[in-house]
Amino acid sequence: MNLAEYKGVFVYAEQVDNVISGIAYELLGKGKELAAQLNEEVTAVLVGADVKGLADSLAEYGADKVIVVEDPELKEYRTEPYAHALSSVIKEYKPDIFLVGATAIGRDLAPTVSARCATGLTADCTVLEIGDFPMVALPGKEDEQKHNQLLMTRPAFGGNTIATIACPDHRPQMATVRPGVMKKIDPIVGAKANIIEMKLEFVPNDRYVEIKEIVKAVSDVADIMDAKILVSGGRGVGSPENFKILEDLAEALGGTVSCSRAVVDAGWKPREIQVGQTGKTVRPNLYIACGISGAIQHTAGMEESDIIVAINKDEDAPIFDVADFGIVGDLNKIVPQLTEAIKAAKANK
Ligand SMILES: Cc1cc2nc3c(=O)[nH]c(=O)nc-3n(C[C@H](O)[C@H](O)[C@H](O)COP(=O)(O)OP(=O)(O)OC[C@H]3O[C@@H](n4cnc5c(N)ncnc54)[C@H](O)[C@@H]3O)c2cc1C
Repeated sequence: MNLAEYKGVFVYAEQVDNVISGIAYELLGKGKELAAQLNEEVTAVLVGADVKGLADSLAEYGADKVIVVEDPELKEYRTEPYAHALSSVIKEYKPDIFLVGATAIGRDLAPTVSARCATGLTADCTVLEIGDFPMVALPGKEDEQKHNQLLMTRPAFGGNTIATIACPDHRPQMATVRPGVMKKIDPIVGAKANIIEMKLEFVPNDRYVEIKEIVKAVSDVADIMDAKILVSGGRGVGSPENFKILEDLAEALGGTVSCSRAVVDAGWKPREIQVGQTGKTVRPNLYIACGISGAIQHTAGMEESDIIVAINKDEDAPIFDVADFGIVGDLNKIVPQLTEAIKAAKANK
């Protein structure tokens, strides 16, 4: 493998039912930043049936080029034809870096593609940076240190430590990133895509799964990743019924309720509203943590919030280490008082 042939940052522009997933725009934002550091371009890879019309929106979020692979076999996601499309793009265009969303689709697709391209994959990254590998040169081996490598950071060992991983000897350097971790750029309104169409043959084989029926899950739970204000409850809330005081506060603030994993494990709330390493990554303007201790697996999913307020009766709770404002006390008293104060302030406006 001649590493010098590999150039550019590629982003898989996931689409479902011909709608681009938000993660694609987030990855373009990060991809643009990495590409600027390497003096390279960012390219989106759009795969599907009749998807070319979506390319301009990728340009609006930073794609310098869009490679489009279209075929009727790509109408619904299936591992085999999509893996064929992506690995063919990699073999033809030789990207230095390839980013994929850690969605249900991305978690299936990225490992298959990395294996086919004989390269590594770091899953569920929380930080992506360009740097040296090893990060500190070994004494006497300074000239063996490689520069301009993708340093991929992710929680390891159940979230108890953070590992930074590189892929110095193979290309592309591949990573998946969970939705909500990276930031989109402000859209460049009216940007037009520079499209490269790639024609490939899709010959069904015994690895092509036949889709008999698609049943869509319908959820009436608000997506906590879209919320600007989250009132989040932990085990300290005490019972499912007591979440009512959090719902009242959320309603007064125009926000949404989320929770810790302890609450989901206890069966008090559905998994869709769990924040953290095995839940969702959120980035609201305001995150109010009520009765949440602040375990690293929880904070990994909310520490990028603009303002964090923590309410906890234990003044040594680790949640106060990530909080901008802390209130030490019983949430059963503080939360209703906050709700009343907010309602009163609104009434006096
Ligand atoms: C691999 C792995 C993945 C994980 N993923 C996640 C994840 O995605 N999300 C997640 O949240 N956790 C996750 N966890 C679990 C995590 O380690 C913690 O166990 C969990 O976050 C604890 O939830 P909690 O803070 O609600 O409960 P606790 O740790 O029990 O904390 C309850 C807090 O409430 C406070 N409290 C009690 N009563 C009151 C009161 N009346 N007023 C005010 N404060 C009060 C207590 O002082 C305490 O700090 C994961 C763990 C592992 C091993």
